Amino acid sequence: MDLTGIPAIDTHAHPFPADAEQISAEWLRDALSVSLRGRTSPLNETMLLGRVTIKELARLLGCEPTWAAAIAARNAAAAGNLRAYTARLFADAGIETLLLDHGFPAAPAIELESFAELLPRRPYQGYRIERFFPGPGSGSMHGPADSPPTRSFDAMLEAFEARLDEAVRREGCIFFKTVMAYRTGLAIRPVSRAEAAEAWQAHRRTGDPHEKVVRDFLFAVTARKAREHGIPFQVHTGHTSHSNVWPNVNPILLTPILNSGQVDGTTIVLVHGGYPYCTEAGYLTSVYADLYLDLSLMIPWSSIGIESRILQTLEAAPTAKIMYGSDGIMTPELYWISALIARRALGAALDRLIATQFITASEADEIAHAILHRTARRVYRLPGDG
Ligand SMILES: [Zn+2]
Repeated sequence: MDLTGIPAIDTHAHPFPADAEQISAEWLRDALSVSLRGRTSPLNETMLLGRVTIKELARLLGCEPTWAAAIAARNAAAAGNLRAYTARLFADAGIETLLLDHGFPAAPAIELESFAELLPRRPYQGYRIERFFPGPGSGSMHGPADSPPTRSFDAMLEAFEARLDEAVRREGCIFFKTVMAYRTGLAIRPVSRAEAAEAWQAHRRTGDPHEKVVRDFLFAVTARKAREHGIPFQVHTGHTSHSNVWPNVNPILLTPILNSGQVDGTTIVLVHGGYPYCTEAGYLTSVYADLYLDLSLMIPWSSIGIESRILQTLEAAPTAKIMYGSDGIMTPELYWISALIARRALGAALDRLIATQFITASEADEIAHAILHRTARRVYRLPGDG
């Protein structure tokens, strides 16, 4: 079925830098390779996602479907007015707005206000809790390696909670987010305050066993704060580029903390739908009442696999618990190509569900609207009913 015309709310995206007004083929290739390391091989231009992106740029801009021609045409179109170019991309792909995690990239940091000026519609933002602590390059959660913490656990916790409150009340954040998957993995267990305080005192460097105890404790703290503020808690699941081995980031590892009672009543969104552990993520949303998922990163990076990944997710997931997202970053074309190929793959997946008599055509229409925008409006309390 043709889903053109159904607006898409992109529930997971990152900002791109203002100098993306002019990009190189290398820049686009790195972006399309979802490599946080950069420096990808020129052979990555043969990836399916690269091929479809170049063909779609050629259609949009009226140029030859080659990398060189598409980059030249794209830079000509964006020259002097990146905002007009992003508006063209948003209109072509029917993107209504973005929900941003602007905690990445961290260096250079891209501030929300200046980034918002590059978009046709004002984006929404969330707060990534890892921003509260020194970045991964520093020695420990509290500063240089091998040093004791400069503030007590109680003082740290008070400041952490105050920062979360400030993010909602002063900065208008509409969700919290964690990337624990990149740090200590998703095998999060319930931790008492006393145990966490002891671990904080003992923690000396990134990767020691104490770090995980502290982060596990803060996961439950963040869930409670999200509940108090009535906002969702986004949890990165699945695919972590090169940063953590993938068996550590399977969302099924969240089962003990979900069973603990510590996060009951918090709306938790499994970001990236656990990709490539889509069946597990979909299953979890069917057994935990307050769990949702988004399809970001899986779309667009599983390319020809998007349709089958959506079907895997749908094996068990309630259709009303799935939200569209892109994980777009580095350059605005990522949001655009994601929305374009998401509609095609979702349309094909729904056709298959109609053909196999699981749903009717009118149910397919309802599901398409739910995934592309309606569930996001409800979960994130966004205006409009589309
Ligand atoms: Zn992301």
